[in-house]
Amino acid sequence: MSKFSADLLVRQGRLIDPANGTDALGDILIRQGKIVESRPNLPTPPDVPILMATGLVVAPGFIDIHTHLREPGYEHKETIQSGTAAAAAGGICAVAAMPNTNPPPDSSDHLQLALERAQTANVRYYPIACVTVARRGSGSLAPLEELAKLGAVAFSDDGDPVEDEALMRRALEIARDLDRPIFPHEEVKSLTTGGCMHAGEVNARLGVKGMPAAGEEEMVARDIELVRQTGGPLHIAHISTAGTAQLVRRAKADGLPVTCEVLPHHFVLTDCEVEHQGTAAKMSPPLREAADVDAMLTGLADGTIEVIATDHAPHTAAEKAQSLTQAPMGIVGLETAVGLTLTYLVDRVLSLQEAIARWTCHPARILRLPGGALTQGMPGDLTLLDLTREWEVVPAHFRSKSRNTPFAGYHLKGKAVATIVGGQIVYSELAA
Ligand SMILES: [Zn+2]
Repeated sequence: MSKFSADLLVRQGRLIDPANGTDALGDILIRQGKIVESRPNLPTPPDVPILMATGLVVAPGFIDIHTHLREPGYEHKETIQSGTAAAAAGGICAVAAMPNTNPPPDSSDHLQLALERAQTANVRYYPIACVTVARRGSGSLAPLEELAKLGAVAFSDDGDPVEDEALMRRALEIARDLDRPIFPHEEVKSLTTGGCMHAGEVNARLGVKGMPAAGEEEMVARDIELVRQTGGPLHIAHISTAGTAQLVRRAKADGLPVTCEVLPHHFVLTDCEVEHQGTAAKMSPPLREAADVDAMLTGLADGTIEVIATDHAPHTAAEKAQSLTQAPMGIVGLETAVGLTLTYLVDRVLSLQEAIARWTCHPARILRLPGGALTQGMPGDLTLLDLTREWEVVPAHFRSKSRNTPFAGYHLKGKAVATIVGGQIVYSELAA
């Protein structure tokens, strides 16, 4: 049996499928990795394993379009195997992997290497290739067309911006012709270099250099203007400020092909957390102010922000034990993101169906991925949610090789309890 092409009958779940606007009790049959049928009381074909989902939500497989798996090059932090095991344990059926690896996927050979390594993946793996050679943000463009042919679903120099405006313009023109988005990390380095947290009251009190909101917003404004001129699709990574949310809102109102994502820590935490947790709360873009958190919630509620992603960024304990100014940016997220979404958003700013859409049909549409819906013929990827499960975040239990999270000890309500990829149960807490 090849990978992710199993048979499975999931019985008596609450099937929620935002793409089709449905929410009803029923069964779902997967054959050879694809969804065959879903309705109440499906007959049981012989030789098909059964998974009982009584009391659980059965959603299309969640997709995390912003993950750092660190392989090749930084396997001491994470591998494709361990990172995708973390994804499975977090209810994530597919990841799009960011290209800040060593080597980065900036050529056919380098992308082939990543794809070979990805044979070990426990969930679906989609590569995001570089915009520029060596992720320099200047110099020359990577061969985007070749990389797209090999399966790159988007282009990003994530971790760093594409600072050269002419290159970004050309990349957007090519992206338009290829119908694959440019997926930028928006940062004006001259405004942020040396900064280790948001520039506001807290960094002033701590006496460390800050990263101002303008360091994100000015690059977002530049890139939206380039979209206006080129028509190239732009998916803005990890927005974090009220100003950025407003820029995206206007761009969408103008009908531009601009979308964006938010990370759970940017709708849950503020920069105060850096004072309490130090490097565990250090990431880029940084945690912002309460008004920015409110803007993330408003942006989610009004549809400006269509995607939630993790920006899962593993670092070792030794790396994060350095000083606030020295430690690397980033936190892990694959094993907490779904619980944080269910706890902090559902029935507060989003309906359950709207929250699921931000992990399924919206990311699938933006990266042109198969899946994201329970439609017949789609990949048999399912995320099973127990909305009543109360649990504590215990980093020692993570499948990820790294433990760098500001959410240790958080009590969450709602959890992914089984993850199915192509009919194959890749993670389950359910009794056999
Ligand atoms: Zn980034």
